[in-house]
Amino acid sequence: MISLLSAGPLSRAEIARRLGISPTTVSNLVTELLESGSAVERATTDGRRGRPARTVSLVPAPGLVAGVDIGRTHLRAALGSRDGEILAERGVALPAGHTGQQTVPVVLELVGDLLQHAPGSAGQLVAVGVGLPGPVDGPERTVGPGTILTGWAGFDVAGRLEETLGVPVVAENDATLGMLAEARWGAAQGVTDAAYVKISTGVGAGLLLGGRIHRGAGGTAGELGHTPLQPEGAVCRCGNRGCLETVTSVPAVLEMLRPTLGEGLTIEQVVAAADAGDPPCRRMVEDVGRNLGRGVALLGNLVDPEVVVLGGPLVAAGEPFLAAVSASLRRSVIPSVARRLRVVPAALGSRTEVLGALALALEHAPTPYGYLLD
Ligand SMILES: [Zn+2]
Repeated sequence: MISLLSAGPLSRAEIARRLGISPTTVSNLVTELLESGSAVERATTDGRRGRPARTVSLVPAPGLVAGVDIGRTHLRAALGSRDGEILAERGVALPAGHTGQQTVPVVLELVGDLLQHAPGSAGQLVAVGVGLPGPVDGPERTVGPGTILTGWAGFDVAGRLEETLGVPVVAENDATLGMLAEARWGAAQGVTDAAYVKISTGVGAGLLLGGRIHRGAGGTAGELGHTPLQPEGAVCRCGNRGCLETVTSVPAVLEMLRPTLGEGLTIEQVVAAADAGDPPCRRMVEDVGRNLGRGVALLGNLVDPEVVVLGGPLVAAGEPFLAAVSASLRRSVIPSVARRLRVVPAALGSRTEVLGALALALEHAPTPYGYLLD
């Protein structure tokens, strides 16, 4: 979705091009906005030719938006202004196996806490975005059965939060939100075709196609983790065999290292050991990268992305991991896709999903400029 608020100052000609409407219609709309005080038009210098140009930008509406990221053992929240400034962020730990019923009060407390301590004039909350690891069904708004948070399946988190907060709440898959955040603030800025691949408890992808987030018919697009990779491989939690997730997810990595390195290992320890040159951990990081590249290649040939952004704790392994993914991906896609494709780490780190939830809230905040959204 492109709006003047998120796209920033644009010339009248650029607005007409992006919205696919005539310059005359744009001129009428802009005049209306300027007269109502909802927009301003300023003279700027054209960097290339030094010619003065005029750009239109919207005056942000008052109010605050909140983003919430719910993970297997963490909860993060962020507060932002309507023009996309991030004002505050906070996180708390959640017990493993938590349910929607248990966690909604914790979410409300955290958002309330952020609002209370908002810098400057404590504004009014106008919209909330929520990220969850798993598919979120669009029309029914419930968390799909494929989620790793089994205690959340079928739960309408947006509806429950709306009851108390009284503002629009939108829930979305966390990998999709990662794509939204990286496109707005991170490693995929200015890119129209990209994928964000999150390697965590599961493996999921968020897709940006032609400048728009692609959710699919039921919000399940990008469930990359269940791509069949090894016909004789381990049985996956989805019931199929040898899915990408069975050889690349964080639990799979720890399980594969358990016979050698024992119980109680964390992914952070594996990454640190690989960095220090420990042979089993180094080998594991490279193998995971290679398998991931083969899985992501399917996506590469299907959607021809310019950038694949990688997120999740394994990305901290740095160059050995990224190089393994990139090399394997390039080997597995057709040459015309490989030529343009870049593999990069997420620029926003562990904040990616919560900032994506904030971007989602911005997109769904009620606006008087509805007709300028395409
Ligand atoms: Zn599977």
